Parts: sequence; C-alpha cells; structure tokens
Amino acid sequence: MSIRENLLNIKATLPSQVTLVAVSKTKPVSDLMQAYEAGQRVFGENKIQEMTDKWEQMPKDIEWHMIGHIQSNKVKYMAPYVSLVHGVDSLKLLEEINKQAQKNNRIIDCLLQVHIAEEETKFGLDENELDELLQSDTFKNLKNIKIVGLMGMATFTENRTQIKKEFQHLKTIFDKNQQLTTDNRQLKTLSMGMSGDYQLAIECGSTMVRIGSSIFGTR
Ligand SMILES: *Cc1c(COP(=O)(O)O)cnc(C)c1O
Repeated sequence: MSIRENLLNIKATLPSQVTLVAVSKTKPVSDLMQAYEAGQRVFGENKIQEMTDKWEQMPKDIEWHMIGHIQSNKVKYMAPYVSLVHGVDSLKLLEEINKQAQKNNRIIDCLLQVHIAEEETKFGLDENELDELLQSDTFKNLKNIKIVGLMGMATFTENRTQIKKEFQHLKTIFDKNQQLTTDNRQLKTLSMGMSGDYQLAIECGSTMVRIGSSIFGTR
C-alpha cells in the first residue's frame, strides 16, 4: 500500500480528539511530501539536524514535533520553528529550551517525558522527579516555555496487559497533574502510542499518537 493509503486508513480509525504525529525519521523528503499531499501537517522527527534539514526543504505550514532524546547544545537549531518538544526529561534541558525560545522571542510548547516502561534504557522522569521539577522555583520562573502535557513509551513487549497497565499509569499521573494550571503549565496533551500499540493507548486516554512504520514502512 502507498504512504497515502496507509495514512488515510489510520486517520479514518482515529477519534476526532486524537492528533496524529507522522513519524518520518530516516525517511526522505519525497516520502514526507506524499503524506503532506494526502493532508498530513504534523510530522515527528528524533534528530534535530535531520528535522531542521527537512524543515528548510518543506512547506512552511507544517508543524514539526521533536520526539527524540535531545542534546542541549542542539536546541538552538530547532528553537526558531519547532511546534512541540515531546521528550523533555530534565530541568536543565527545559532551561536551555527556555533560553533559546527567549532569543527567538517566542514560547515553546513542551511535554515532559515520564518513564513508565520496565526497561532501564528508556528515558524519562519518574513520578518523584516530575513532582520535583514542577514544584521548583526555577521551573515556575521560566516564561518562554509552556508544559502542555506528558509523553511516555510503554515497554517493548507482546504482553498487552503490561502495556495497558503502563499506559493507565501514565493517564493517572496526567489526570493528577492536570488539576493545577499556571502561566507556564496547562496539561492538555497526553502523547502515548506508536504503530504497535496506538489503539490500546487511545483506549487508555491518549490524545496524541506517534506513528511511523505503519505509515512510511519499516526503517
Ligand atoms: C520512532 C518513534 C516512534 C514511531 O515508532 P513506530 O513504531 O515506527 O510507529 C514513536 N515515538 C518515538 C519516541 C519514536 O522514536
């Protein structure tokens, strides 16, 4: 099936409140343009350099989402244009995003990544670290970032019960943190679910799914 057909088939199954991020990492601009021509306007990349190259070459009505692990020294390259940063997992990184956003005279929307998987290797804050970050004075004084939600990745396993448990856990943390709203904190987006588990994620309350291989093919 073509990229267009894959995309339209997936979109047809998504509830209206769920945003589809087309994860286009490693794929050429020609593939992204097929999705663009089928109506897709939100793309996710996991390397800042690659995302910036594609941003330069592609139409300017695209929303670019950074979904990967971020190196602080590269934040400046995406600061002029990035729409949403999914993988924020430290106050230090948030301070750097704030600094670069300020230089560009804008506010950058961010999601805090929460560690919900069993694997040690997946990035993210645990619940205590999340609370600490959100309660710190340093965070409260950042004016050029806004925390608009949470992001998480489930364990890579065939065990649906476990994946579901992890998504439900993240939803609980999300609901708890949604209650307090400040100038730089208003949780409305819950980014969870990829090609293999997005239906389950939506059942558990996801509002944003990040789908790559089911649209663009295997990498
Ligand atoms: C690559 C990636 C995805 C998409 O994975 P697929 O299995 O290809 O859908 C989603 N989220 C993150 C953080 C990724 O790095």
